[in-house]
Amino acid sequence: MIIVLLGLPGAGKGTQGELLSSKLGIKKVSTGDILREAVRKATPLGLQAKEAMDKGELVSDDIVIGIVKEELSGKNCRKGCIMDGFPRNLQQAKELERMKIKCKAVHIKVPEEEVIKRLSSRRVCPNCGALYNLITNPPKKDEKCDICGENLIQREDDREEVIKERIKVYKESTEQLINYYRRKGKLIEINGVGSAKEVHRRLEVAL
Ligand code: AMP
Repeated sequence: MIIVLLGLPGAGKGTQGELLSSKLGIKKVSTGDILREAVRKATPLGLQAKEAMDKGELVSDDIVIGIVKEELSGKNCRKGCIMDGFPRNLQQAKELERMKIKCKAVHIKVPEEEVIKRLSSRRVCPNCGALYNLITNPPKKDEKCDICGENLIQREDDREEVIKERIKVYKESTEQLINYYRRKGKLIEINGVGSAKEVHRRLEVAL
């Protein structure tokens, strides 16, 4: 079974995906994380993806579908997985359907003004990937990671002008997937406003 997390950038897909992954004991697959790691290591994949990512645009379907196929064929996904950031458009959703794996989609609903606030105060640890928010989930000391002590950074695409582009891309390409999964009777919708714990509880009940 694959659980697809849908929602605006900043709706909490990464955080809820992590919590759900620990709870269910299945892997979280984040195409965004895989691409960022490739960019960081400057692999051929990273070099191809960087330009689109920096602008907040989608990376080509071929690249992303290749990544997902490879992940899903790995032994860590044998029990299924939680998808954070895939599918992002109709073509990707149809490709996932062709893989004939049972799937459910969860739409984490958060108003646009709220995600803009969240994303501009989001910080990440470049070393271990831990996620923070300067308002709702600040690190204990300065802007340093609680886990490994590294200085936290703002994601390149969490700058205001890129956030606006990402929201535009979401509305043009990804939002239609909510209806796509609804029509198939595979959609669950939850309110994504509140603390990570509160939203996680709603998600558990809804699943
Ligand atoms: P995310 O961390 O999910 O917000 O993804 C960060 C960036 O990676 C996006 O803005 C896209 O440029 C790229 N990306 C991640 N997942 C996909 C996908 N499924 N299709 C195309 N581009 C993606």
